[in-house]
Amino acid sequence: IHQPYDDNNIFARIIRGEIPCKKVFENDQVLAFHDINPQAPVHILVIPKGRYVSWDDFSEKASDTEIAALTRAVGQISRDPALNNGYRLIVNCGHDADQLVPHLHIHILSGKELGAKLI
Ligand code: 5GP
Repeated sequence: IHQPYDDNNIFARIIRGEIPCKKVFENDQVLAFHDINPQAPVHILVIPKGRYVSWDDFSEKASDTEIAALTRAVGQISRDPALNNGYRLIVNCGHDADQLVPHLHIHILSGKELGAKLI
């Protein structure tokens, strides 16, 4: 996705603490918080703290440490017993995927039968 990073996007402001969030997990590289408009009983967003628009941007520019940290954070959150019946990960990148916030985020959805699959 060829789009310069916008330092005023809503997740950049959440990372800087300018906008509150309901935090689920945080370390030096990663922040996770509840989606403001949940689409399931569990709807968590996991984001790298670095300035990455999309998966392709992240995988090209992030360090192995950042990539491992994001992967492991998603795994750690997903091991919560509340997600024992299953969960779905979704990453929307760019216009055709209807990405609304231009900072890479992984949606974790769980807590009910999630229904319609695109794939
Ligand atoms: P996208 O459509 O970009 O994949 O997903 C963006 C997500 O961010 C949406 O699910 C939306 O509800 C969520 N979101 C947008 N603004 C905020 C906010 O200010 N706080 C939180 N916690 N979530 C937000």
